[in-house]
Amino acid sequence: KKEKSRLIAQAETDQLTGFLNKVSTGLKINELIKEYPNEPGTMFLIDIDDFKLLNDTYGHPAGDEIIKGIAKTIVAEVRSEIDIVARYGGEEFVVALIDTSEAGLKETAERIRLAIEKASFDIKQKLPLKVTVSIGAYLKRPDGRYSMAESLKFADSALYKAKEGGRNQVVEYLETEPEKGVILEEAHQ
Ligand code: GH3
Ligand code: MG
Ligand code: MG
Repeated sequence: KKEKSRLIAQAETDQLTGFLNKVSTGLKINELIKEYPNEPGTMFLIDIDDFKLLNDTYGHPAGDEIIKGIAKTIVAEVRSEIDIVARYGGEEFVVALIDTSEAGLKETAERIRLAIEKASFDIKQKLPLKVTVSIGAYLKRPDGRYSMAESLKFADSALYKAKEGGRNQVVEYLETEPEKGVILEEAHQ
């Protein structure tokens, strides 16, 4: 029995960071949305800026060290017992904050962004490396309509704006954006 739960935990975990992996994150967040339909919640999609350049310059193993360092920095800035942290792709992270507000969203996202900006990543190169991230944020209002996939779509569209706006910044997906109407039509079907 113990062995089985260990294997399940391993299957849910990303080896490099120890975070939840993509599949288990989706399941867990959907569960939470179902369980607490009337609670607000926030999703961040965090993507390392110009990571391909870092990889090309310092090598793939150095890139892996940076991913690990960023994971540690993120964990230090959230309530890791409550909030969900996940490695959602190669150089992308998802953070889900439970029961948060507009003010909480802004404060936490900016705190994560700044902590990474300030951190130095030692990749055994002598020079400490500076790395930044862009964050797309989405606040789920307490009406329980949105699934994990839908929330992620909104966060991703905000992330795209953050990249377009020059990177190293937080952008929140706003209900009043004109294209929102289109996306919501899909979401409600
Ligand atoms: P942007 O600022 O627009 O996000 O630019 P970018 O270079 O970060 O984005 P792009 O999607 O072009 O490149 C992502 C890179 O991340 C390419 C890929 O080789 C690298 N990568 C993905 N997964 C891993 C990994 O597990 N380890 C390492 N070292 N690199 C990875
Ligand atoms: Mg990416
Ligand atoms: Mg990137």
